[in-house]
Amino acid sequence: MAEEKQTSYDVIVVGAGPAGMTAALYASRANLSVLMLDRGIYGGNLNNTAAIENYPGFKSIQGPELAQDMYQGATQFGAQYAYGTVEKVELDGDLKRLTTDMGDVFETKALVIATGTQQRHMGVPGEEEYGGRGVSYCAVCDGAFFKNKHVIVVGGGDSAVEEGMYLTQLADKVTVVVRRDQLRAQPLIQEQAKQNNKMEFVFNTSVTEVLGDENKVTGVKVHNSQTGADEQLQADGVFIYVGSLPMTAPFKNLGILNEQGYVKTNDLMAADVPGIFAIGDVRETPLRQVATAVGDGAIAGQQVYQYLRSL
Ligand code: NAP
Repeated sequence: MAEEKQTSYDVIVVGAGPAGMTAALYASRANLSVLMLDRGIYGGNLNNTAAIENYPGFKSIQGPELAQDMYQGATQFGAQYAYGTVEKVELDGDLKRLTTDMGDVFETKALVIATGTQQRHMGVPGEEEYGGRGVSYCAVCDGAFFKNKHVIVVGGGDSAVEEGMYLTQLADKVTVVVRRDQLRAQPLIQEQAKQNNKMEFVFNTSVTEVLGDENKVTGVKVHNSQTGADEQLQADGVFIYVGSLPMTAPFKNLGILNEQGYVKTNDLMAADVPGIFAIGDVRETPLRQVATAVGDGAIAGQQVYQYLRSL
């Protein structure tokens, strides 16, 4: 006889990035039944990150490798992991009922939202058309296609500069197109990039179109805000790192989001609905790092235990 699928858990963590995996570790170690639900492979944005140099304990570690290690830790006390994109959350007294895109319905009294962020698109002509044909949002995934080629990176934050540096290990030249007259990235990261002779910065410049020959990207059209000039830059690939958006669509109806769509919480990671917590990049927070995500996860993993005991 087929084993009946478990649909009710003490705690359900939506999103299995660093924050979610840490919450699952803490909650399962407190002997609670825990399900981590994720729309894809565990690890979240770690899977799109090359070297991480600011996570304590490691001088430098590859994102996917850290994801694997965290998963081993997160599941060692019985936390389960399943695929599924949560589409809807309904409240029924203390119960939170989650429906996934696969039609599965799960119930829990303690819901931890750890869905993180996804990369923003530029919204210019050619961007969607050449997706997967030269336009990419993930240097770790697609960088190898551009060995000895010229690529453009759009954006001036930590992601653009760090991932640009990663790309210099593969590409011949990396041109970072920055819309303002300065970078937003941390000073140390800027310093490292400036010493890299394969990297070039073009300031005061916005990409207005991605160009291609119908098969693949051939370059971009840019506009210089200082001179007013429009020109074309040749490139074999365009990597876009223009910021991120919170993945909170299924939680809109709960009244727990701020104007930008991030979940508002108190210091104990509790959102405005009893039994709902939010952690990591999806939370309204001044700093989004792997280190802060696991800190949030530890607090939430312990708080769900306190919350369930109080019922
Ligand atoms: P971000 O810090 O929001 O930076 C986005 C960059 O894209 C900014 O330079 C912004 O320009 C630019 N931009 C926004 N819209 C644009 C558009 N339409 N066209 C061109 N440029 C545009 O995003 P992020 O770099 O993805 O980082 C996200 C978070 O993760 C941050 O909190 C960051 O510190 C963190 N992070 C940390 C590390 C690390 O510590 N090693 C690594 C990666 C990410 P403006 O400056 O003009 O707004």
